[in-house]
Order: sequence, then structure tokens, then C-alpha cells
Amino acid sequence: MKKNICYSRKDESLHTVQIGMSVLRSAIFTVLISLVGACGTTKQSTVVLPTSTKMQVETPDPVTMGIAKKPRNIILMVGDGMGITQITAGLYENNNQLNLERCKVIGLHKPYAGNDLVTDSAAAATSFACGVKTYNGAIGVDMDTMPVKTILEYAEDNELATGLVATSTIIHATPASFVAHQPKRKMYEEIAADFLKTDVDFWVGGGKKYFDRRADKKNLLNTLKLKGYNVGTYLEGDLPTSVSQDKNYAYLTSDSDPLTKAAGRDYLVPATKLSMNFLENRGKGFFLMIEGSQIDWGGHANDSDYIISEMLEFDEAIGEVLDFAEKDGETLVIITADHETGGYAINKGSKMGEITTGTFTSDYHTADLIPVFAYGPGAEAFAGFYENTAIFDKMMEAFGWEVEVR
Ligand SMILES: [Zn+2]
Repeated sequence: MKKNICYSRKDESLHTVQIGMSVLRSAIFTVLISLVGACGTTKQSTVVLPTSTKMQVETPDPVTMGIAKKPRNIILMVGDGMGITQITAGLYENNNQLNLERCKVIGLHKPYAGNDLVTDSAAAATSFACGVKTYNGAIGVDMDTMPVKTILEYAEDNELATGLVATSTIIHATPASFVAHQPKRKMYEEIAADFLKTDVDFWVGGGKKYFDRRADKKNLLNTLKLKGYNVGTYLEGDLPTSVSQDKNYAYLTSDSDPLTKAAGRDYLVPATKLSMNFLENRGKGFFLMIEGSQIDWGGHANDSDYIISEMLEFDEAIGEVLDFAEKDGETLVIITADHETGGYAINKGSKMGEITTGTFTSDYHTADLIPVFAYGPGAEAFAGFYENTAIFDKMMEAFGWEVEVR
């Protein structure tokens, strides 16, 4: 491939033209656009202009900026309750570095719900999963409680492999909104039953009791096995580092809510690695949602240390995902939150490496705008300012899928 595009002084046609500044500017712009479009991995190119001016032009890395091509895989990472201050607290506690900083495309989404300026995780996750604004408490349904097809269900229909990883129960609002369709988030047993209606290839999260000690006496773990799943639980030991590719895989990390990171829960990073390896070998691409669920719970508890330990574990998982995406080159990574929790602020007195004085305005969520970080092919679409529902639209567009008319 030709690496540089050059206009040399020997070019007759250019010599005959008197070039004004605006033409010159548009020529530079055209050269930049051509370089981005045509030069693949070229990082720096010399552009010889019609005058004697010689310029070094930096062109963006197409993989980082997402200009190169359509993604084969999408990994959506949701830090529940992870507003700007939660990120800031993790950053400074960790001596001014986060893996999140590797994402060069950044946007903002508007997280309000269909019936309230302050959203809950169910309405917000339904917006990411289904592309609709809905009421607080809705799981994969619209304002009229009608089911809406999720991005994970579109992925299944397009023969992609799918996965969910969460540090809450797997039937909690965020993961639930990608597979279940229920009018109320607290309908845990109904949500668990919805996990049998969709062939999620790989899922890891807590909440075993909603599958095997139910009011209807059904044992859904046995039903999952009959459906062709390998099922593991915390009772048999830690999450394995490799599992058979022959069957779908589900692993339950706890009976009800998983422990906090500080109390010894340690599966987010290994589950992140295992999920990517499993799904990569599975189909013709994959959709994976990974949630750092308990940043939110630290916010509800107005507990800075809780927020920070959960935030830093989530960032470690982000590092694994970005390493995978960097090597793979075909994976679009989107990292965001559903909402901010706690109205959290860091005040005078905290130091680099030591965030001690956090204050809170609330023990619930706030209406703050939420940052979106993107990496890989298709990432550039996530720059800017948009509704939370646009995250669904942009993922569908990245995969090249049309939304079905309901
Ligand atoms: Zn919450």
C-alpha cells in the first residue's frame, strides 16, 4: 500500500493555480481525510504542499479512534453508579492512573428515565439494551410494559455468541434488562425464568436461590442443564480458568447478593477474561455486557472506600478488555454508567493516593450527565452528546443491523 499521499511542486496542474488561504486549508483538510480513509495503520505522514511549506501531519490511530472498519465484537461495560466523581476518586486513589484513560473517544449521555429525571438501573439498562426511554423499574419493556427486543436478542438472532457478567445477582436490573422482559425489577423469579428463553452463551453472576429455591418449586439449574448448559456454582469452588466450548456455560457466584470486593469477592477480572476467551471461540463474533455492579452500592451507602475498591476492580477488568480489544483489532468497547449515585464529591483534605474526604448529597441516584468511553472499530460514533438510548442505536449501527418495527 502506498504510505504517503504527496502533492509535489512538479505537479503542473497545481502550479497554474493561485492558491489562496482558504483553498490551502481545504487542501490540507482533504489530505487529512484521505490519509485517515486510505492509509490503514499509517500513523504519521509527510505531506508536501504546493508551496515550499513542509508539514508533519499526525493522523489518528484507526484502531484507537475506531475509524478502520466495522466491529466483529462489542463489549459494553457498565459501572453501575459510576459518575465522574466515582471515576475521579478511583483515579486519584490509584496515584493518577486508570486503564479507562486508554480510551480516546469520550462522550456524554443523558440518563433520565421516561417517567423521572432521576433514573434507576432498570430503566437505564433497558435504554442501553432496547433503545427506548422507559419508567423506573422496567426490565426490557417500554412505557406501556410491552417487551422490546434487546441488543443481546438481536445478537442471538444474527448468530453471534452472547455473554453477561455481573458482580450483583445475574437477575439484578442491569444484566436482567438484556435478556428479560418484566414490568417490575423485583420480579426476580420471573426474571430468572426468562434466562431459559434466550440462549445466552455465557453468564456469570450471583443469585443461585432464584434458580433453585423458588416459590414454584422448579429447579431452573436442572432445566438449564437439560437445555444444554454446563452449570457451575460457588459451592463447587472458584470460577474455573477454562471451560468446555461444547456447551453454553453458566456460573452462579453466590446464593443471594455477591460479597463486596473488600470482603473477598474476586471474580470480576477472571470472569472477564474467561468470558472473552469463551465467546471469541464460539461464533462469528459476540456481544458481551460486563457490569461492575457495586460502585452503585457504595454510593447508596455513602461510603468512599466501598466506591473506590469497586471502581478499581472495575478498572482492572477494563484493562483486560482493552488488552483483548487491542490485540484483536475487531472489538468495539464501550464503557459507561447507568447513572451517578450519592451526589458524591471529593473535598479539600484528600490527597493524591489518599481520598479521605468524600461527601454525599443523597443516598440515592442523581440526574448527572454520564461519561461514555469508547475504543476500537466504530468508537468515533460515541463522541458527542446524546440520549442514553443512542447507545443502543450506535451499537446496532456498528453491527450493521436494522431495528425491527414493533
Ligand atoms: Zn442504585
